[in-house]
Amino acid sequence: MTGPLSSIPSVDRVLRAPAATSLIEAHGRGLLTDAVREAIDRLRDAMEAGTGDIGESAILQSAAAILERWTAPSLGPVFNLTGTVLHTNLGRAPLPPEAIAAMARVGGQATNLEYDLATGRRGDRDRHIEGLLCRLTGAEAATVVNNNAAAVLLCLNTLALRREVIVSRGELIEIGGSFRLPDIMARAGARLREVGTTNRTHLEDFAAALKPATGLIMQVHTSNYRIQGFTASVPTTDLAALAHDNDLPLVVDLGSGTLVDLRRYGLPYEPTAPAALGAGADLVSFSGDKLLGGPQAGIIIGRADLVAKLKRNPMKRAMRVDKMTIAALFTVLGFYTDPTRLIERVPTLRLLARPLADIEDQARRLAPILGKRLGDAASVEVAACCSQAGSGSLPESEIPSAGLAIRPDGGKRRADAAVRRLAEAFRRLPVPVIGRIGNGTLLFDLRCLEDEAGFVTQLGKLFEDAAS
Ligand SMILES: *Cc1c(COP(=O)(O)O)cnc(C)c1O
Repeated sequence: MTGPLSSIPSVDRVLRAPAATSLIEAHGRGLLTDAVREAIDRLRDAMEAGTGDIGESAILQSAAAILERWTAPSLGPVFNLTGTVLHTNLGRAPLPPEAIAAMARVGGQATNLEYDLATGRRGDRDRHIEGLLCRLTGAEAATVVNNNAAAVLLCLNTLALRREVIVSRGELIEIGGSFRLPDIMARAGARLREVGTTNRTHLEDFAAALKPATGLIMQVHTSNYRIQGFTASVPTTDLAALAHDNDLPLVVDLGSGTLVDLRRYGLPYEPTAPAALGAGADLVSFSGDKLLGGPQAGIIIGRADLVAKLKRNPMKRAMRVDKMTIAALFTVLGFYTDPTRLIERVPTLRLLARPLADIEDQARRLAPILGKRLGDAASVEVAACCSQAGSGSLPESEIPSAGLAIRPDGGKRRADAAVRRLAEAFRRLPVPVIGRIGNGTLLFDLRCLEDEAGFVTQLGKLFEDAAS
């Protein structure tokens, strides 16, 4: 071959160039070789198109950029200005620094995770949190799995395999598309026995459905919607009595679940795990990273004999939590022993209870700063808005909040495209900023903005890479 393409240096020659040394040190020879090959391919394409340089340094420069992209973690922090405090797509509950410290303490070394220091024998990982959970909820026993979906699966598979589970038609929920109670039930090997109607279910409906094949009665907290109007549902106490009269367990999936009545902090009511137990539930399951404000986990509390059965199910082994989750959960649960200081210590609750006046002040501070940065591109106004708890917690409540309404200047006709471009520019910042879009406006709900300085500092980088 003759012409410029034949003068492309070999991969070997590029790797021997002095400038390659530091890249080999940082990434290893193997990965750099792959990147150089890719860089050469691209340069060849560029040269065929009549542009591009074929020198070793140009190839290495391109390889370095490729390596940067290959090795940068794709998971990283963002500013959640969506107004949804527990946003599943944005990782739900932010952990308190004490919980992060606890994770770091156990993450880097051997621990007594399943080792009983008193006897020198094998121990049980649940033991590290079971005592605290029982003290906080009044439960006899507790166990923890990967998330609440796993908790529900484990309860059904353990107590109702090849048997029927009676559930109200008004409670056959879907959460976030990936958790549908009927599907979970089928995968657990249990048979769904729906009773009642969408809006009304009575105790008689449950009683009429009982038969020898019944494994348990289940109550599901309709976390992400409410049935309103002409409705009837059966109180937990009545369901528990019916279940117990028939020697069946009542399992309650609380969804979010909390340990304390949130009304004492000015927040709407959300059913608590201790109340569900008090009403007679035999097992209660709830999430670790919803209103509890801890790490992703599924917590199951209740009768000791039933919890022991759950722990003997081989499925439990496939759903167990790691040492870091246990360390973080223990720390967050510990905060619940002193409810007076809960709001300052648990970030999720602190954000939910953040005073409106605080958020409004912040909006007034930030509006001119952002307005100046955006210049002619868009107008920025302080706007009243509503936050929500998210993840099916406190579903009916819209929490008054404040934020920044950003409207691109110029013709109305192109407003939607302009807003999308603006939102994209904010998503490209070093710490991406995620808002919500509606009515030709990009809205930043400031409820969850705690690192105001960090937010302002990076505004200088807005539109910087708009060309790329
Ligand atoms: C959120 C929720 C679940 C699933 O919990 P994860 O912790 O997300 O697995 C199950 N049931 C109800 C009622 C819920 O609200």
